[in-house]
Amino acid sequence: MDKRDYAKPHTYKGLPELLANTYDVALSEPERMATTGDLRRFLESAAMPVERSIADDDLAEVHAVREQVRAVFLAPSDAEALKHLNLLLSGVTPELRVLEADDKLSLLLFPVVSHKVAENVRSVVAIALGQVVERLGFDRLRACEADPCRDLFIDTSKKGARRFCSPRCASRKHVSTFRSRRAS
Ligand SMILES: [Zn+2]
Repeated sequence: MDKRDYAKPHTYKGLPELLANTYDVALSEPERMATTGDLRRFLESAAMPVERSIADDDLAEVHAVREQVRAVFLAPSDAEALKHLNLLLSGVTPELRVLEADDKLSLLLFPVVSHKVAENVRSVVAIALGQVVERLGFDRLRACEADPCRDLFIDTSKKGARRFCSPRCASRKHVSTFRSRRAS
């Protein structure tokens, strides 16, 4: 198999959040991955291979994986989060290769083209989450505090003090805090 058969694995960074946030509780219609076309666009934007048609079953299975991912983020305790993460990791079937990337050899994970769509999504997302938790702990899996945004994000910053999903939400929150201080 050739290196060109695969998307570059670093593109899977950020995929757990990307998947989790296709369900947005801040919207009156929270489902943002409602059709197989939406799923295909998600897979393409995540640089995951899509070599066949996507069925309604695939969509339902990816929704189920997404529920498990959201459960890891939103668990009320580390023990609960650990339970959900290990559920997500059970049945993971990654394909591993050592490749030369950026002038060094790295052990890398790839989705298996012949597998079901949801299995590939599960593998990539579960391992990405597992690696983050191993490095930084469950505390870094957070929900944005800039109401009404409830997007999930992973704080990979050095200080680990991020409260917002994006610079946009951070500045929106600061503006509204400033306004309410001035008003009171
Ligand atoms: Zn936000």
